[in-house]
Amino acid sequence: MAPTRIVIVGAGFGGLAAAKALRNTSAQIILIDRTNHHVFQPLLYQVATSVLSPGQIGSPIRGILRNQKNTTVILGEVTGVDKDTKCVFANDADRQDVPITYDYLILATGATHSYFGHNEFEQYAPGLKTLADAVAIRNKVLKAFELAEAEEDPTRHRDLLTFILVGAGPTGVEMAAAIAVLVRSTLKSEFRRIDPASARIVLVDMAPRVLPPFSEDLSKAARQRLEKLGVEVRLGHSVDQIDADGIVVAGEPIVSKTVIWTAGVAPSPAGKWLKVETDRAGRVRIQNDLTVPGHPEIFVIGDTASLDQNGKPLPGVAQVAIQQGRYAGKLIHNRITGNTAPGPFSYFDKGSMAVVGKGFAVLQTRNVRVSGFGAWLMWAAVHLQFLATSSLRLSVFLQWIWTYLTGQRGSLLIVNHHGAEPGSTAGSDTGIRAAVSSK
Ligand SMILES: Cc1cc2nc3c(=O)[nH]c(=O)nc-3n(C[C@H](O)[C@H](O)[C@H](O)COP(=O)(O)OP(=O)(O)OC[C@H]3O[C@@H](n4cnc5c(N)ncnc54)[C@H](O)[C@@H]3O)c2cc1C
Repeated sequence: MAPTRIVIVGAGFGGLAAAKALRNTSAQIILIDRTNHHVFQPLLYQVATSVLSPGQIGSPIRGILRNQKNTTVILGEVTGVDKDTKCVFANDADRQDVPITYDYLILATGATHSYFGHNEFEQYAPGLKTLADAVAIRNKVLKAFELAEAEEDPTRHRDLLTFILVGAGPTGVEMAAAIAVLVRSTLKSEFRRIDPASARIVLVDMAPRVLPPFSEDLSKAARQRLEKLGVEVRLGHSVDQIDADGIVVAGEPIVSKTVIWTAGVAPSPAGKWLKVETDRAGRVRIQNDLTVPGHPEIFVIGDTASLDQNGKPLPGVAQVAIQQGRYAGKLIHNRITGNTAPGPFSYFDKGSMAVVGKGFAVLQTRNVRVSGFGAWLMWAAVHLQFLATSSLRLSVFLQWIWTYLTGQRGSLLIVNHHGAEPGSTAGSDTGIRAAVSSK
């Protein structure tokens, strides 16, 4: 008899946790992801602000599951699901809509940016979700300093050195603070025509306070810290317009070439693939065993799922995805082995943290609310612990110590800054050759 086949789509926090929970299950596991790597998203902002390099927060999925013999990793993009024939369809490098059958399916395809109906903002205000996004933002931020240094007219420096973050949730706050530290420490002595410390960093949100998921006192502490770092915090107004010249907020234009979007997320199209009920945001409504109603063989977990606990929807955070992945894996394992199913899924909230520049974080659990250096040490320890491999943990730990002591960052490279793909004859390489031959 053919072994039971479990297809997992997405090797983010949820999908990877599910795959690992099935490591001793006598089944064939197929893990499909459209990238070849697992990304530790909470540290993406550190790649975008040059503290870490991409390889320090991303790890090849194949390598992570090297010793898990029952699991096959496939690089492919899932485009649909047929619930009746129990089949997912995936595009791989050279084929379209390849059918892959399943006995159990776990959809863990996460979320992407949401521009709240203003998709035209995207070309001017990139979001941060993938390693490619982080590198693109790093290029954009570093390039702004290069453009300003090359600009002979000092009246243009202020506009070129204005950085706007739209969204004062954890990512916006962490990025704004990290850019503030970058301009005042790392880049301090590296330019001659401009003073990087004169950069204007503006954090905008329609909410009345920064870090809305945190308590008011922690929110206040974070805001004070941001202002101490020189970040201009503009709250209570949504952005009316974003274009090549900057933004308009509360009727006031702010000129900037570097606008970054950290405001909203939208789930993957898993609900459309399954043609099942979703919440208003488009997340699949699941039952408390994480399955789709009427389909005990289909699980949806993490950011793309919607489940209420104690009358409130579970948040889109890594811990929810990890705990749901483990639960789905255990439930499937028990079904295959004939063991009793675990009770309904229950999320255990271990707390939330956000870092606000060097040596300062806010931390909130059920009973504890702290801010400052102690919270930052806790933040660092927890984030190191959840990185995918020991080599990443060691590498990030050493980088953080180095950056803390010297102010130097891991990667200040502008990669592919003319937009040329590797191997293409266009771009910087052509420019260098032209310069050489003209001598
Ligand atoms: C910048 C940023 C900072 C964050 N900071 C924190 C934090 O500090 N703390 C916290 O708890 N949470 C944080 N989060 C949220 C957290 O990362 C998410 O809640 C978590 O990643 C959700 O896990 P997931 O498995 O549902 O999805 P993800 O981890 O996003 O994984 C989805 C996977 O599915 C793959 N995929 C998507 N579509 C397809 C497809 N069609 N075919 C094949 N593969 C596909 C993707 O490539 C990806 O690997 C942050 C998120 C971001 C973007």
